[in-house]
Amino acid sequence: MGKIKLTQDQAEAVNLSEKGIADVHPEGVLLAEEVFFQAVEHSPVAISITDLKANILYVNRAFTQVTGYSEDEVLGKNESILSNHTTPRIVYQALWGRLAQQKAWSGMLLNRRKDKRLYLAELTVAPVINEENETIYYLGMHRDGSEMHELEQRLMNQKLMMESILNSVPASVVVLDEEGKIVSANPSFRDLAKELTGDEPLDSAVSIIGKYLGNSYTNLLAEGKSFDDREFSIDHGRSLARWFSGFGTSIDVQCEEADGFFEQTVRHYVLLMINDITDLRRRQEETHLNALKALMAEEDLVQGMRETVNGAIHQMEGPVNLLATAVSMLQRRSEESRDDALLAALEDALTSGRSAMDSMRDSMPPELHESKKPVNVNELLREALALTTERFLGTGVTVEWKPSVHLPAVIGRERRLRSMFKQLIDNAVDAMSERQVKQRELTIITSNEEKDVITCEIIDTGPGIEPDLMMKVFQPFFSTKTSGTGCRGMGLPMVHDVVSDHAGTVRIDDKHKPGCRIIVQIPVTSIR
Ligand code: FAD
Repeated sequence: MGKIKLTQDQAEAVNLSEKGIADVHPEGVLLAEEVFFQAVEHSPVAISITDLKANILYVNRAFTQVTGYSEDEVLGKNESILSNHTTPRIVYQALWGRLAQQKAWSGMLLNRRKDKRLYLAELTVAPVINEENETIYYLGMHRDGSEMHELEQRLMNQKLMMESILNSVPASVVVLDEEGKIVSANPSFRDLAKELTGDEPLDSAVSIIGKYLGNSYTNLLAEGKSFDDREFSIDHGRSLARWFSGFGTSIDVQCEEADGFFEQTVRHYVLLMINDITDLRRRQEETHLNALKALMAEEDLVQGMRETVNGAIHQMEGPVNLLATAVSMLQRRSEESRDDALLAALEDALTSGRSAMDSMRDSMPPELHESKKPVNVNELLREALALTTERFLGTGVTVEWKPSVHLPAVIGRERRLRSMFKQLIDNAVDAMSERQVKQRELTIITSNEEKDVITCEIIDTGPGIEPDLMMKVFQPFFSTKTSGTGCRGMGLPMVHDVVSDHAGTVRIDDKHKPGCRIIVQIPVTSIR
């Protein structure tokens, strides 16, 4: 080995003597062997040199610190003194196999300190080979790798935990990079993608979902703007429409590469989570419909009572008017020729008739009060159709629903308008339920071709209404239905009332054949 000669000044310049690493030679020369010895002695790695049977010949200071054994306690002992005797035999065989080939080996062994505490030795063993190419010693270098192993293990466990959570959650989760490319996707997302796009690559499902999420998605990708509870429905025609709620957030990750160690660069990812809320939506709709049914039943009851009382008043008006005429005729007669007893009796009858009518008017339940607000006519018609579903099924009526995509809201009384549409739909179903009607189709169209007016057409394939009855059907107590069917002849007058209340019109298309086409038009701003 060559010698490095250092003067005292040079040794002091590198501060070796002060640190106790080197004794400066009296002649001012530091030998290379001594430099290397001191470097090994003070290395922070536990270093040992053994003979060919792994009997220890030398250990440095760090060895004592890591293992707890002093130099005297281990010199001459085998390295196996450190073994916890739980490292698999195959590991030692690999270690010794490499040494036999004069090659270094690195790996982990489970060691036991002098105080019996265990630690993971991150060990490298290497042969020391002389100039004749013979192995003369073994060199062992190890450090306590327990902490690093613990951290790695914790990281791995967290990763596994995250993966199993993502794999088991019912939500569809996908992580995308800055370009919108998929980094990872959980099984639920894969299932959703398959449903949406068949066997196409996952990216096409992401772009479909992205379109439904609209600006929320583009802003998330471009600016990292998070969004929450963004609902959308997908109706791809293969099955019933499905409802989803989307959640998106950006994730910033520090670069793992070496060049990011001092100057940290950040990589942006986005996480999309899609929850299937179809069941929730259906349940909500069901609850809403049940509430509507209850509401309409109450309205029907009030309406029925009002119609019955009105009907009774209407029936009494005839005899009371006759009485009034008879009384006034008798009163006009001369005293000699009139029968005062009869007149008195008729006057009594007239008074009690009028008072009976007044008490009937007083007993009439008031109409349910409702104020006007912006309403979506498509929504009301859809609800009225949903409320009639059972009747459609029972009578074999098929429904064609053609709502206008862009229908402005009207200012109206939601409940009354819904009842009005329900009445028209019920009338159509009643008409088509007649035995001779073979083709039973109900078509409902909404449009607003005429600016500021919403047009609703209710078209049925029933027997239709005779032209001379087209005006009469809107009069109270007029009905073409046979008596005993429970029809009071108040349906279309109610429709007329509601439409007038909204400054609209209702008419029957006299040219439409066969069947009946009723056209309701309501101005968009109908405040009265
Ligand atoms: P052993 O009977 O000693 O050996 C187990 C297997 O190792 C045997 O089946 C055999 O295949 C192989 N083997 C053992 N000795 C030799 C040999 N001389 N030549 C060829 N193959 C052999 N072990 C630790 O547990 N912790 C340490 O920190 C550690 N550091 C070491 C450092 C150095 C430099 C060297 C050379 C070895 C080190 N060893 C260490 C290995 C140690 O010497 C033992 O082999 C090991 O501890 C297993 O001991 P054992 O008594 O359980 O089994």
